[in-house]
Amino acid sequence: MATDATVNPPQHFIRQIVAADRQAGRHGGRVVTRFPPEPNGYLHLGHAKSICLNFGIAAENGGTCHLRFDDTNPAREDPEFVRSIQDDVRWLGFSWGALRHASDYFEVFYRGAEKLVRMGLAYVDDLDAEQMREYRGTLTEPGRNSPFRDRSIEENLDLFRRMRAGEFADGTRTLRARIDMAAGNINLRDPAIYRIRKVRHQNTGDAWCIYPMYDYAHCVSDAVEGITHSLCTLEFEDHRPLYDWFLRQLDLPSDPSLTEPLRANGLWLQPSTPQQIEFARGNISYTVMSKRKLLALVNEKLVSGWEDPRMPTISGLRRRGYTPEAIRLFWERIGISKQNSVIDLGVLEGCVREDLERAAARRFAVLDPILLTISNLPAGHTETLHFPNHPKDARFGTRDVPFGPRLWIDRDDFMEVPAKGFHRLVPGGEVRLRGVGIARCDEVLKDADGRVSEVRCTLDPDSRPGMAGADRKVKGTIHWVSTEHARAAEIRLYDRLFDVPDPDEESGGKTYRDYLNPDSLRVVRGWVEPDAASLPPEARIQFERLGYFVADRHDHSPQRPVFNRITTLRDTWSTRG
Ligand code: ATP
Ligand code: MG
Repeated sequence: MATDATVNPPQHFIRQIVAADRQAGRHGGRVVTRFPPEPNGYLHLGHAKSICLNFGIAAENGGTCHLRFDDTNPAREDPEFVRSIQDDVRWLGFSWGALRHASDYFEVFYRGAEKLVRMGLAYVDDLDAEQMREYRGTLTEPGRNSPFRDRSIEENLDLFRRMRAGEFADGTRTLRARIDMAAGNINLRDPAIYRIRKVRHQNTGDAWCIYPMYDYAHCVSDAVEGITHSLCTLEFEDHRPLYDWFLRQLDLPSDPSLTEPLRANGLWLQPSTPQQIEFARGNISYTVMSKRKLLALVNEKLVSGWEDPRMPTISGLRRRGYTPEAIRLFWERIGISKQNSVIDLGVLEGCVREDLERAAARRFAVLDPILLTISNLPAGHTETLHFPNHPKDARFGTRDVPFGPRLWIDRDDFMEVPAKGFHRLVPGGEVRLRGVGIARCDEVLKDADGRVSEVRCTLDPDSRPGMAGADRKVKGTIHWVSTEHARAAEIRLYDRLFDVPDPDEESGGKTYRDYLNPDSLRVVRGWVEPDAASLPPEARIQFERLGYFVADRHDHSPQRPVFNRITTLRDTWSTRG
């Protein structure tokens, strides 16, 4: 079912720009976007913001969104990452138009670079990296021209071709754009276009020993794919003049010779002159999201892997039991702006509660059991009771729950010395056993350690469903499972991975590793009603009164039930001080 935010998406500046462009007939009224991850890790919640925006804008406008692996850096891509990225995008509910690698366009990049050389707009520089840095100047001082800046076009063309042919060692020569070494924007001070790196590339093997720089490859890839709106995060705002410069000089839409090599392998798309639009990155409290840090958590075995249910990765959230709807709702609700901010993790948890409140069936489970025996029912007595699977939605149907004289109840639902305001079971007191009737506690038994091990009760026969006293009021109602029928289950109680709002802040020699929440995972053996055990992996349910849980995607089976806690029923963090 759609929620308000998805039925009536709120306006934001990117939706407004796209709507205006369509109205003005720009790009022939087409809308084409792309999501361009570098396949060097798993996608995280921040990427989901970009995915929801790019795929969302395309879908709302009858357009297309391409998935492009940005693999211009050789030897970093891992097939596991490529696969997980595709799985995650699909799981979030999106489908791409074309699936591409930036390396598909290596020949186009090269032709474009030769074109710039021929136009006198690019030159081969012999300065090394350090010298180039020195010549670049600073924010307050202009840069200086390289002594190689005024090479002839013929010499540049010859040197660039020999760079491609592998005649020169790594780092000895660079192809640079010839723009303006005095530009206020440092990105325009003759940025590098190609560098020599004699490294095997995962897709193109040894075909290339020169590789294009991001700023050049990215805008050309966008144009090659016919992207109309290239949405990226704010740090690229200062790169936009360069983005526009390259595209203006190359003019891909009117120079078929540049993209012609793509026709041979069926990769040709109508080129465009895309428009870059920046928006604020999504930052979330109580977590880290840089791939470098997530990779460190994995490598240092601080979590069980990329898919650990405490990780902010899409696959971690999936395994934790989060729904794609909740993640989409979250980013829709946060909106798109140019203002950087940090969003409280509680907002995301609120979205998943909101989604599961309507979407999750209810079941019973007891996580910290004490035995409740009903002394006025014969041993071996069994009944089948019927419960609605959802309190507000009859479409969820009903289920059978077996009941008998020996029950597990949660330790929290009994207090020997009741605290003020405690309305559940106490010695001599009454409580309603959900769907059964009213039980009175007659006797409390303890184990050798003095812990309550059993409460003996009498069930008021007149309070049972259909009887005259069924509506008699008692203050508390508790849930239960029949010991005879319940199934033992491993319950993984997850909590936030970090226990401070900003684990990224490094101070006093501390890093995010020092802020790991020691209680982020607690494993208990609980008891679940039989029906819960037979749920398929990834089924999400509410264990009544306990929280939302998911049958673990990998470890759960009817023989060995395993449930992960997705979230508690209420926010317990905002009140922790
Ligand atoms: P990280 O810093 O985590 O490695 P990245 O930006 O280097 O992230 P890429 O794989 O290059 O990761 O990102 C793919 C796309 O996702 C880019 O367009 C990038 O702008 C976007 N993206 C990454 N992180 C966020 C975020 N926190 N919020 C919004 N968009 C993001
Ligand atoms: Mg990146």
